[in-house]
Amino acid sequence: MSLKGKVALVTGSTSGIGLGIARALAGAGADIMLNGFGDTAQIEALRSGIAASFGVKVGYSGADIGKPDQIAAMVADAAKTLGAVDILVNNAGIQFTANVEDFPEERWDQIIAINLSGVFFGMKAAIPGMKAKGWGRIINIASAHGLVASAQKVAYVAAKHGVLGMTKVAAIELANAGVTVNAICPGWVLTPLVEKQLRDRAEKDGKTVEQETHDLVAEKQPMVKFTTPEQIGGLAVFLCSEAASTMTGIPVSIDGGWVAQ
Ligand code: NAD
Repeated sequence: MSLKGKVALVTGSTSGIGLGIARALAGAGADIMLNGFGDTAQIEALRSGIAASFGVKVGYSGADIGKPDQIAAMVADAAKTLGAVDILVNNAGIQFTANVEDFPEERWDQIIAINLSGVFFGMKAAIPGMKAKGWGRIINIASAHGLVASAQKVAYVAAKHGVLGMTKVAAIELANAGVTVNAICPGWVLTPLVEKQLRDRAEKDGKTVEQETHDLVAEKQPMVKFTTPEQIGGLAVFLCSEAASTMTGIPVSIDGGWVAQ
């Protein structure tokens, strides 16, 4: 299938899952607006590398997804440089772990701002352009933690459950506008976000990172295997396809059986 001529904005695409999705959408022919933090030279290498590998236009915005005005400016910038956004992937996200009573207020505010409000402000900014074209795809990257909980992740679990709620609301509102809105709920994916958790847990439990890696996945997933950013990219491309045009308002799990239990 071809996404040639479509413009895709993927938040948090300088690393991990977002980068996998950006590459997969570029591979299907879409022009890409990258977003996220990181070293300037490395980001430019990513940008020019994707453009050269897939023969598509690739832009970059350093917008902070915790800041509503920067999200609106990024969507406007994408429209100016590439064309109005057809595909919005709300992927940027952060994690912090602590029990509820110890959870620092500023960490709560930061996770809610990026993982929850960022998705709302992204959709708010991009929907008018999609409605005007009569075609759009919104893919919100939630998590298995949008469907079930784990200890010590109160802000993350609250945000991801909220993302599923707003996915359903937007799907209903846009049902006859040619725009679908779905959420992807990954299980464990080995990215910098998870590597940090592995290092912290290994230190706390006195295990090697290798042992902790096995135990972390086995604790939650019947299938003791990471999902890859490439596989999530493949799912995102499918959600943009004609075959998926009546799929809307749903959480799509890709989690090694995590929430089947
Ligand atoms: P990652 O740390 O590898 O990448 C996060 C990306 O978001 C980076 O590009 C980073 O620069 C960007 N980012 C962070 N804060 C930002 C901000 N304020 N503004 C703009 N960009 C920002 O993490 P990842 O594992 O690829 O996670 C991506 C998404 O997938 C997150 O929403 C996460 O909750 C979700 N997720 C991850 C897993 C997993 O196992 N890794 C599982 C389920 C869901």
